[in-house]
Amino acid sequence: MSYGFRDGGSARAGAAEAGIGRREFLNGALVAAVGAAAAVPAAAGSAEPSGTASGGPPAFAVSTPSPSASTPDRRGQDNTKTYAENLRTPVVGRYQVIVAGGGPSGVIAAVAAARSGAKTLLIERYAFLGGNGTAGLMTCYNGFRNQRPPDALQTVKGIPAEYIAEIVRLGGVADSVPYAQTEHDVPSGDLSYVVGFDAEAAKVASLNLLRKEGVALRLHSWVAAPMLEGSRVTGVIVESKSGRQALAADIVVDATGDGDVAAWAGAPFAGPAAQGDRMGMSLMYQLGGVSRETQEATGGIRVGDRVVLWGPSFGGDALDVENLTRAEVETRLKLWEQVQAMRKRPGAAPVHLAQTATCIGVRETRRILGEYMLTEQEAIRGTRFPDVIAISSNPMPSYRGRRFFFEHEGFDVPYRSLVPLRIDGLVLTGRCISCEQGPFQSARSMAPAMAVGHASGCAAALAAKGGVAPRKLDVKALQKLLLGQKAELRIPA
Ligand SMILES: Cc1cc2nc3c(=O)[nH]c(=O)nc-3n(C[C@H](O)[C@H](O)[C@H](O)COP(=O)(O)OP(=O)(O)OC[C@H]3O[C@@H](n4cnc5c(N)ncnc54)[C@H](O)[C@@H]3O)c2cc1C
Repeated sequence: MSYGFRDGGSARAGAAEAGIGRREFLNGALVAAVGAAAAVPAAAGSAEPSGTASGGPPAFAVSTPSPSASTPDRRGQDNTKTYAENLRTPVVGRYQVIVAGGGPSGVIAAVAAARSGAKTLLIERYAFLGGNGTAGLMTCYNGFRNQRPPDALQTVKGIPAEYIAEIVRLGGVADSVPYAQTEHDVPSGDLSYVVGFDAEAAKVASLNLLRKEGVALRLHSWVAAPMLEGSRVTGVIVESKSGRQALAADIVVDATGDGDVAAWAGAPFAGPAAQGDRMGMSLMYQLGGVSRETQEATGGIRVGDRVVLWGPSFGGDALDVENLTRAEVETRLKLWEQVQAMRKRPGAAPVHLAQTATCIGVRETRRILGEYMLTEQEAIRGTRFPDVIAISSNPMPSYRGRRFFFEHEGFDVPYRSLVPLRIDGLVLTGRCISCEQGPFQSARSMAPAMAVGHASGCAAALAAKGGVAPRKLDVKALQKLLLGQKAELRIPA
């Protein structure tokens, strides 16, 4: 049994996951080459300088800044120039539950909604599922239990555990991860703090679970706006190669990570900018041709001879498309140079850049304000709530500059944090739920995000089938349903 940051590898992982303050942990010879520029994250909330790290060719011109760039909320008031669109959008489908976004939280939410008896559609902008775990190549699910004792309780079970079992069945569990933790037997369902995985297996595992529950799936579809009747969300508008279409729903689950549906419907939200402590973006990547000896220096998440690592970071607003474009351009150029430099080191010639993430990983954008705002102190104290629907035991990875471990087995996430203020017909899930930044840092990790997804899917199904507003939902009935589906709530079934 081992725990704590007794070796460099785990400390490195903690800092890498936080997206800040990595330099002090990147001391290995090979790592120094890979991580040198990556260890200089952007100042939180500040604009990044343009151009490559080496002062090479001139910077890319990103698209011309628009007057509305500073008002990413589509209801922003900057109307210096507008184009009036006359839209009549065909309604091409009707569902009891629509889940917008196929990340870890959305996939589990869709499975849960369908299993709970709702006709369910899952919509995803990419060509595959898994969100930041696959598109962002962030291939370790953290937070199935506390990373350190007290860790006897596996806080994430139910459908998320079934999902991990499917990854195990597909042979998709990683050989090693760079986190210190107590030992558990993942194949038997006794999940450790972290489960590393192969991204391709994760994509297939998601499809298998959804197919088994009969969830309808729509890929390549960008949720562009909510359908609204007053302040009630009645579906979503999607843009795709098929054009602009409307999909109606009794209840929509916002699983976009960024809270797109909720914000565009007019729900109030908190952003990190005001505090200036935004968790940065990072480009994950995979090296191929890595021997076991080489991996000792690189760390990372290993599957065979491939290792996934944390790459260059970038600051600023991840809801500003121009900043996102700069982030992709600069981190990719920087990473290429780093890997080429690394390959010149003795013994590293076979190593190569096998893959970069489909998109840079976004840690923090909106947190939608809900019926309850879970506080930092409640997370630290491990406050229990009568309307608990999930537990988060993941540490807070960059709490006042360090990885903060809970001295309890996890804090409760109340159902009220899933219900947005002012807006009806909508349930929140994943990293946009209503909480302060501290609990956000913890619960945004993918295991608790999946547990919250389990609850949001069940809540949406109950609300849709009962014709009840999520705000008025019988929480005891929701808890009973979740316990019946083997979720861990720390209350008797
Ligand atoms: C660099 C980095 C490192 C991290 N490290 C770890 C780690 O080690 N372990 C861990 O557990 N967690 C880690 N996290 C956190 C974790 O990956 C995320 O917080 C988590 O994935 C959130 O899950 P989600 O389902 O809410 O959102 P996401 O994973 O972001 O999924 C949202 C999904 O919705 C889709 N979507 C978004 N907007 C739209 C739209 N408008 N229309 C249609 N589809 C849309 C996206 O394509 C995506 O599939 C890390 C995050 C980052 C960025």
